Amino acid sequence: VSSLFTGISELVQPKLRAGADRAPLEVTRDAALLVRDGLVIAVGTRDAVETRREAAGAERHDLGGRAVVPGFVDAHTHVVFAGERIDEMARRARGETYEEIARAGGGIARSAALLAAASVDRLVDESLPRVRAMMARGTTTLEIKSGYGLVPAEEQKHLAAIGALAKRVPATVVSTVLAHGVPKDQRDQRRAYVQSFCDDVLPVGAQLGARFCDVFVEEGAFTPNEARTITARARGLGLAVRLHVDQLREGGGGALAAELGATSADHLEYTSAEGRAALARAGTIATVLPGCRFFLGKGPWPDARALRDSGCEVAVATDCNPGSAMVLDLALCATLAATQCGLSLEEALWGVTAGGALALALTDRGHLTSGERADFVVVDHADWRALLYRPGAAPIHRVVIGGAWSG
Ligand SMILES: [Zn+2]
Repeated sequence: VSSLFTGISELVQPKLRAGADRAPLEVTRDAALLVRDGLVIAVGTRDAVETRREAAGAERHDLGGRAVVPGFVDAHTHVVFAGERIDEMARRARGETYEEIARAGGGIARSAALLAAASVDRLVDESLPRVRAMMARGTTTLEIKSGYGLVPAEEQKHLAAIGALAKRVPATVVSTVLAHGVPKDQRDQRRAYVQSFCDDVLPVGAQLGARFCDVFVEEGAFTPNEARTITARARGLGLAVRLHVDQLREGGGGALAAELGATSADHLEYTSAEGRAALARAGTIATVLPGCRFFLGKGPWPDARALRDSGCEVAVATDCNPGSAMVLDLALCATLAATQCGLSLEEALWGVTAGGALALALTDRGHLTSGERADFVVVDHADWRALLYRPGAAPIHRVVIGGAWSG
């Protein structure tokens, strides 16, 4: 069955690549969109689409003069987790630092303990409302990382929960196996831990349909050499590579991501000019996560402007996680990317649509061209920029996923 969406004040079409363009979008006014079997089959001005032969007999939906943008692609989340860490936010607000709280038993170790105590069903039940909230805010594709398991049996459970959740939502879930850190009691056996991650976690991830392997490269997490070992094994299993780099200090993350042929390098708060140039040369997507700085209230904002001016394609994601960015709202992150990180509104929207898709190596979404998935957001405003103009309260009328109304 086909559907014809008309009454579109402006239809926003991100370009495949932003390049050096500060306005990497094309906007069609008085537009229409024809959808069949979950895919876009025609898009353009109302007159051009309505007179298509395929439009005859289509179910018609008048969107009443609202703008339409592609569904958001959130390329970096840890949204499947057990238990919240609200008290840690309260402690930070009273002056304790993230590091002090982590040393006192908070942080990733606490989420690992909470995950160890939860069943797959409970993990799914706790995480579903968060993913539904993301979808209501326009996200139609999201990446979800494991990484709170730490030990192989728990990592396998985490990956199983991500897979089970993916079956319960219309949004597309891309799953990633994350090497998050070496558990405290195994710190003097790092080599053995890395080996068991390669032997016992990565193959299960590949078997459960993960597309990527991610490594948290930072002092206190993994070294560049350990990342080389883990990602080499991941490649052998058919997993592509993404990295958490340069979040707390310049750690050579740009050069490392380029060397490893990473699809995406994420965080980049401290990345140097050399690192930015390396990312640009390698074609690695630079994914910024401004929700993290926003939530923690400390440290530098990622310099998305400098990344763009160095020739990088810049995606924007939430980093949704219980400790450092309990942020479900990708439109809010786009606003922050513009107001705090130097992007134009057009570059920021590109970063949460076409940019997110590139960061996940997905070629069938992020735009609304013929043959791509019919995932889109109907903005409750004639001007698409209202999405970024009302941070935390983006005017979203409806979200369409695979051609069907969601929520
Ligand atoms: Zn992260």
